[in-house]
Amino acid sequence: MSQTIYLDNNATTQLEPAALEEMLPFLTESYANPSSGYQFGAQARKAINLARERVARLLDCEAEEIVFTSCGTESNNAAINSAVQFEPRGKHVVTTAVEHSAVLRPCQELEKRGCEVTFLSVDQNGDVDLAALEKAIRPNTALVSIMWANNETGVLFPVEKVAEICRENGVLFHTDAVQTAGKIPMRLRESAINFLSLSAHKFHGPKGVGVLFINKRSRFRPSIIGGSHEGGRRAGTENVASIVGLGKAAARAVACLGDEATRVRAMRDRFEKGIFETVSGASLNGASATRLPNTSNFSFEGIESQAALMLLDRHHICCSAGSACKSGSPEGSHVLRAMHGTNERTLNGSLRFSFGRFNSDADVGKALELVPQAIEKLRRLSVPAVGVQPANVSVR
Ligand code: PLP
Repeated sequence: MSQTIYLDNNATTQLEPAALEEMLPFLTESYANPSSGYQFGAQARKAINLARERVARLLDCEAEEIVFTSCGTESNNAAINSAVQFEPRGKHVVTTAVEHSAVLRPCQELEKRGCEVTFLSVDQNGDVDLAALEKAIRPNTALVSIMWANNETGVLFPVEKVAEICRENGVLFHTDAVQTAGKIPMRLRESAINFLSLSAHKFHGPKGVGVLFINKRSRFRPSIIGGSHEGGRRAGTENVASIVGLGKAAARAVACLGDEATRVRAMRDRFEKGIFETVSGASLNGASATRLPNTSNFSFEGIESQAALMLLDRHHICCSAGSACKSGSPEGSHVLRAMHGTNERTLNGSLRFSFGRFNSDADVGKALELVPQAIEKLRRLSVPAVGVQPANVSVR
């Protein structure tokens, strides 16, 4: 698949070769259980501790505050369940309507079990109203869970401010930062964030391994109970090779946050400018909000995103309609619905392009050639939507 133009880095990312290299010995000769007392086991233990330190550097926190999990979804569930089951005031949770299903679904489950949940709405830009958040906190609120960066639009929430509001109100705060790692700096040392979730495969680590940051002053009770792994906070023999890969990916993310992040932002900005210059009836979702530097979510009038995905796939362009988890879903994006209501033009024709470290300027050039052609072709095939002018591109 050498010709693949991969513009779906919010769905998953290519494994960093340096991470694979460090993982391999732990899948072959260094197979000892890290809990074993002999020296062979100590090698694995040492590798896990190095990974913990590397993640702590990425988050600017203490290594003891890092717990390895199986994925971002598990980290989110663990934080939410801990707060609700073990907080004395745990009868209410505040979250937003635009969270990933890995927060929305656990919250909906809580509702079925008698816990109340407030789903805060967002405005047209995808921004949340902090006054509404403060108003939503009640005496029986156990937790506020608000994502750092939205996976579909890249819109950033002011989580440090949210954490302060929560601290002032004596409420625990969790943030799903699965889309944030490696894209913008995160400094937790001075912050009031209690819990934070990461997933390695979103920042060039392996799939099936994640992190739950638990601030050392925060109360936490594990959901997965058994042995005393991870300081008693997550039982189960550690996935050593994957944790090692996650650690190396975290170290690379720290190293790449400067120049590489600037390069990714430049590619994304060039793509957005090019799309606006060549495609009429295009709007950028979350355009006026503070956004991640790698994500563009466009709505194209007069097209269906599923048809566009199929056509782009034929040209080996990988992108998505909203989140990867929603591909093929008939309801469309809950995020865009929360931002724009039921405006069908915005909902039906949305495409997310997310750039990453392994993209090149040539990828952007190819995408700027093929995406406008695809949109134009789809518009010619369907009844033209009112107000959409034909775009100035050649048709194949
Ligand atoms: N949270 C967000 C914002 C995500 O984008 C994703 C994955 O798409 C997840 C959570 C789930 O992470 P994982 O795939 O590691 O379970």
